[in-house]
Amino acid sequence: MGNKMCVNICVLGSSSSGNCTALWSQKLGILIDCGGSIKRWEGHLKSIELNYGKIRGILITHGHCDHINENTINFAQKNSIPIYIHEHTYNTIKNRYNLKDNLIRDGLIKIHTNREFRIDYLKITPFKIYHDDIGHEDYVGSPCGFSVYFENKKISYITDTKEITYDMIQEVLDSDAIVLETNHDLEIIERNPPNHFGWCEHLSNQKAGTALVEMIIRSTKSNSFKYVFLAHVSDDNNTPERPKIVVEKILHKNGINHVILIETYKCNRTSIYTI
Ligand SMILES: [Zn+2]
Ligand SMILES: [Zn+2]
Repeated sequence: MGNKMCVNICVLGSSSSGNCTALWSQKLGILIDCGGSIKRWEGHLKSIELNYGKIRGILITHGHCDHINENTINFAQKNSIPIYIHEHTYNTIKNRYNLKDNLIRDGLIKIHTNREFRIDYLKITPFKIYHDDIGHEDYVGSPCGFSVYFENKKISYITDTKEITYDMIQEVLDSDAIVLETNHDLEIIERNPPNHFGWCEHLSNQKAGTALVEMIIRSTKSNSFKYVFLAHVSDDNNTPERPKIVVEKILHKNGINHVILIETYKCNRTSIYTI
C-alpha cells in the first residue's frame, strides 16, 4: 500500500506579503502557513480542487502576518480546520488578536513544542529555525520548519530563517521535496544595499544553494530533493530569475543534476506537482 501513496504539492503563493502551501493525498491534506490574503488562497484552493473538508490542519511556521493573521483564524474557524502552532508563537498572536482560551479547548488551536505529532496518518516533525524580530515587539514567537511524512513520502518546509544549521539539515534528510527560502541575492545586496535590515533574517540564494547541496549529499535515499520550490523571494533584493540561476549553478558545480527547481510567485500558484 505504502508504495502507491501519491502526494500533491502546490505553493499557492509565497512572498513577504503572504504564504500558503498545500500538501494533499487522495484522502487528506494540510496547509502550511496561511497569511496575507485569504481570499487569494481560497481562489487557488478552488482552482486546485482541494475541498476544505479534506484539509485536516494548518501548520504555522511563526507569527509574522504573512504567515498567520486574524483572517487565518476566521478561515480556520469557519471551516473547522485546526491550526497547529508552537506555544510561544500562539502566545504572541493571542495577545495581538485578543484570542480567547476556548479556541484551545474547542480544538481549533493545537499547541506543539517542536515535538513530533500526528494528524491522522501523517507524521509531522517541527524543528527550530532562526528568524528574529527586528525592532521591539515580539511577533515571531518560536519559528519552526516542518517535515511532513505521508507514509513513505517526506516533504519539508523551510522559509524565514537567516541560516540553515547542521541540526536543520539532519531534520530534512531524505526528503522527496522541499519548499526552501531563496529570499535575497548577496550580489544584489552588495551592489545595492537596502536601507533596512529585514533581509538579514532571511535566507539568500547562495546560502540556500549551499545548504541544499549538504542536504542531498548527506541523504541516503536516491533522488532525494528531486522537487525544490524556491520560496519567499524578495521584490527588492532579488529578481524572479536569480534564485533558480544561482541554486542551479551551485548544484551543478557539485555534480548534482537530478533536481527540478521550481519558481514560486507572490500572487499566482505553482503547478501541482505529484510525487
Ligand atoms: Zn515571511
Ligand atoms: Zn517572518
